Amino acid sequence: MSPSRIAARVRRIKPSPSTSAADRANELRRQGKSIVNLVVGEPDFDTPAHIRAAAAAAMDKGQTRYTLMAGTVELRQAIAAKLERENGLVYAMNEIIATSGAKSAIYSAFSITLEPGDEVIVPAPYWVSYPDMVLASDGMPVIVACPEANDFKITPAQLDAAITPKTRWLLINSPNNPTGASYTLDEYRALADVLARHPQVLVMTDDIYEHIRFDGQRTPHLLQAAPQLRERTLVVNGVSKTYAMTGWRIGYVAGPRDLVQALDTLLSQSTGNCCSISQAAAAAALNGDQRFVTESVAIYKQRRDAALARINAIPGLSCRAPDGAFYLYINCAGLIGKTTPQGKALHEDGDVVMYLLDSVGVAVVAGTAYGLSPYFRLSIATSIEILEEGCARIAGAVAALR
Ligand code: PLP
Repeated sequence: MSPSRIAARVRRIKPSPSTSAADRANELRRQGKSIVNLVVGEPDFDTPAHIRAAAAAAMDKGQTRYTLMAGTVELRQAIAAKLERENGLVYAMNEIIATSGAKSAIYSAFSITLEPGDEVIVPAPYWVSYPDMVLASDGMPVIVACPEANDFKITPAQLDAAITPKTRWLLINSPNNPTGASYTLDEYRALADVLARHPQVLVMTDDIYEHIRFDGQRTPHLLQAAPQLRERTLVVNGVSKTYAMTGWRIGYVAGPRDLVQALDTLLSQSTGNCCSISQAAAAAALNGDQRFVTESVAIYKQRRDAALARINAIPGLSCRAPDGAFYLYINCAGLIGKTTPQGKALHEDGDVVMYLLDSVGVAVVAGTAYGLSPYFRLSIATSIEILEEGCARIAGAVAALR
C-alpha cells in the first residue's frame, strides 16, 4: 500500500518502544520461553473496591450518557478540591478539563498550540511519547540531555541555552519516567528565573507520578515555587498511576482559561467527553479514602529498595536511587564493549537489552527509547519474587560476559 496515503506528520512518528518491547516479550512467552517481564509501566494492583463500586453505582443510576465536554461537575469539583488540598493550587471549574487519560491531554495541548516548526523543550531522559506527540502536531522536539551527574534534571543554564524565539513549551515531568528524578522547590525557582526572561515559553507539568515517591514527602510543584507562572502553565495529571486505574482512561488539565477553552473546543470535535462511568470512578478516587495510595507506595518502596540493592551489587551496572515513579533507570556503561558467550560484542544499550532477553529471558527497555544512553529501564511494578528472579537472571547474564 502506498505510504503517501498516510500523512507526513504520522509517518514521522513511531510506535511506542515500551509497547514494542512488551509485545516481543509476550511473543517469546507464547513460544514457550520463560520470560520475566520488567517492561510494564502500570500498577500491578487492582483498582480499589470503593472506586469500582462508584463505577457500578454510576451505571445503575443511568450515568451512561454524554457528559459535559469538560467533564461532570462532580469530577471537576473533585479535581479542583484535589489541586487545592494536595498542591495548594486554586482553579475555577472553567479552568479544568477532564480528558481520556493524561496522554490525550498532553497530545491535545500540543495540537492546540503548536504552529509548524514550533519547538518543545524535552529534557532527556523523557517519557517515550513526548517527542512523537510533538512531531504528530507538526512541532519540533528539542531534546536536552540531562546526565546522571545532574541527577537527570535540566539545569537553568541548559534551559537558557535551549530557548529560541521558536520555543513554545518546556515540558517538566516530576517524578520522571524513566529516572524517578524529582525537582525541588529551589530547582524550580532557578528554572523560573530563566523563564522570567522568556515570556513566550509555556510550561507543561506532567504530574502523573506525583504520589509515587519514596521519601514520605509531598512532591513539590513548579507553581508552588513560581506562582507567577500560573498564566502560562498547564498542569497535567490523572488517576492512572496513583489509583491503579490505567484502563479507566481519566486524565485532566488545569490551566489558564484560554488554553482550557481551546482544549475543550478541539476535544469536542474529536474524542468528545471521556467515559461517563470512569468519570464517576475518578471522582470517587479523588474524593475518597486515600489509604490505597499510602499502602501501594509502601510496597513500591520495598520493591525499589530490594531491586536497587541487587542491581547495584552487579559489577558493571549501577543505578541512582529514584525519588519516585516505579522504574529503575540502570546505567550499563560498564557492559559496553564486553562480549557475549556467543561472541557478539555489546556496542550499545540496545545490544544489552537484546542479550538479556535472548540469554536469560529478562525483558527491559533500552535507554535509547528515553533519549539517554547507555541505560535500560526496569519496571518495579511487579512482585518482589519476580523482581528477585529478574535481578538474579540479569546477574547471571552479566557474569557470563567476557
Ligand atoms: N505521563 C507519563 C510520564 C507516563 O509515564 C504515562 C504513562 O505511562 C502517562 C503520562 C500517561 O498516563 P495516562 O494513563 O493517564 O494516559
